[in-house]
Amino acid sequence: MRCVYCLEDKSAEAFAGREHVMPQAFGRFTPTNLVLRCVCDACNGAFGRGIDEKLARDSAEAIDRVLQGVKPASEYKGLGARSTSHVEFVDGNLAGGRGYAIANPDGGTVPGVTPFAQVWFAKSSDGPWDVFLLEDVPTMKALVERGYDPRHKLYIRTFEIEDPFLTLESKGYNFTESEQEAIEPLCGRVPIEHVTTVAEPEFRAVTKIALNYLAYTTGPSVALEPAFDQARTFARYGPTNGRVRVYPRVNPWFVGRRGHYVSLTRAEDMIVAQLSIHMRIQYLVVLAEGDPSVTLHSAAHLFDLDTREVKEIEPLPLTPGFALRPVKR
Ligand SMILES: [Zn+2]
Repeated sequence: MRCVYCLEDKSAEAFAGREHVMPQAFGRFTPTNLVLRCVCDACNGAFGRGIDEKLARDSAEAIDRVLQGVKPASEYKGLGARSTSHVEFVDGNLAGGRGYAIANPDGGTVPGVTPFAQVWFAKSSDGPWDVFLLEDVPTMKALVERGYDPRHKLYIRTFEIEDPFLTLESKGYNFTESEQEAIEPLCGRVPIEHVTTVAEPEFRAVTKIALNYLAYTTGPSVALEPAFDQARTFARYGPTNGRVRVYPRVNPWFVGRRGHYVSLTRAEDMIVAQLSIHMRIQYLVVLAEGDPSVTLHSAAHLFDLDTREVKEIEPLPLTPGFALRPVKR
């Protein structure tokens, strides 16, 4: 049998596992999750340790997975230092600082947050505060160049730094006349904003789901067509081998719905999958272009999180929706 990702001919034993069209991290559905037998165990395993894990643990979808009750907040697990997502504190004594989502021991559907190791500087006790992650803390000299007057009082807050005095003294700060005050630890509810990068790993992850869906709805023989080589190599090996156009958008149809949507349609000379996990971001994945002579029927499925059913539905019109709000830097 031939694998639709690595294209290798392998014996039946190399296809022992099942590839889920929608990664199981995003819920189990009835009557069946859509599964494939045409993805070899090597590819299936590589996806699980790579792009599937990224999408499930470090993405807008990863947070929605908790907010929508698929993963208990007490079990939330991010990617730690490998994360490309973070949270920004928008109010309270951490306002302007950064942190990351962690498990919430109280459970529920809201993940916990904890600040990164960071240092805050201000010219007055009321701020405004300049915030630096530990690895970006400027030297005293560099801070003075930013307009701080070394003759005046300097207000400093540190978070999660084991030995703040030692750390800052190594950067030229002098604490001969310092006063210390403990700041209340972070606890209770704090207003935050999640900031997520939607980039190549996420695009690869959704391209794989789109190609999985094509293999599911049309059968492996269509998915093996050379027209989809760019999509399969991009999903499996990354952009050095394949290129796929993926557009993240917001779709008004999704507002207020809980679940996932995936569809496959022809549009002009392209074969396009429209996909959303948790209905926040809509991805348009151009699986093939140049009018490929492939037999294809439009199809769409809704993974309904309220009823935990997966059902075939009429494909939504292919609408570009709204562009996502640009990330502030
Ligand atoms: Zn394979």
